Amino acid sequence: MRKNIVAGNWKMNTTVPEGVKLAKEVNDAVAAAGDLKCDVVIGVPFTHLTAVKAVIDINKVGLAAENCADHTSGAYTGEVSAPMVASTGANYVILGHSERRGYYGETYEILKNKVDLALESGLKIIFCCGESLEERENGSFKEVIKAELADSLFHLSAEAFANIVIAYEPIWAIGTGKTATSDQAQEVHAFIRGLVAEKYGEQVANDTTILYGGSCKPANAPELFAKPDIDGGLIGGASLKAESFMGIVTAF
Ligand code: PEP
Repeated sequence: MRKNIVAGNWKMNTTVPEGVKLAKEVNDAVAAAGDLKCDVVIGVPFTHLTAVKAVIDINKVGLAAENCADHTSGAYTGEVSAPMVASTGANYVILGHSERRGYYGETYEILKNKVDLALESGLKIIFCCGESLEERENGSFKEVIKAELADSLFHLSAEAFANIVIAYEPIWAIGTGKTATSDQAQEVHAFIRGLVAEKYGEQVANDTTILYGGSCKPANAPELFAKPDIDGGLIGGASLKAESFMGIVTAF
């Protein structure tokens, strides 16, 4: 049966000392909470991975990079590869975030390479997809999501696909304070699960964790997480304070 997961995406926020403090707070709160109904992951800047890994219990709080390079090593100044991420002790990487696609030109093909390299390094992947406001309004959103998933993920074997967590993040809801309604999110989550079932069969689809992301907060998380195909959240702004992040973690 699939796991529930609540994952933070800190984006380009916090200095290393601030990030270490936040990670410690999350780690302590998770330890104090006892049995949780979800796994917890924090996604942090590359610069923070090693220092954060040193202050968390990786068995209780997973650690994600927010990106990795589409090459393994070599003359790619400024890039950070999947093996480098894995060597910090991180166990996840977030790929395909709309900010990476939109601001840094990450195409389906580039993401496909990143997916392969991350899996080769033993990382699990939180793979983001989601439509723009225009695509929502003109009704093409399902086609967009289908292409994002099919062209970057569906070359994988069913065995490899077991390491993929999908995050549905409507771009119009990210950082805007506008959350998709729980019904809108559920409709897309069920659609995504259907796509996975068509490609890999019902068993794999039922085992696939699908997260919602986009202005998720302690106040709206319970309604979202109550939907049958919403298995947790990818949390931006609200993951920057341990209290609000834990308010979402405990929403199950
Ligand atoms: C995100 O960027 O992954 C995200 C969901 O951001 P926010 O929660 O701030 O909308």
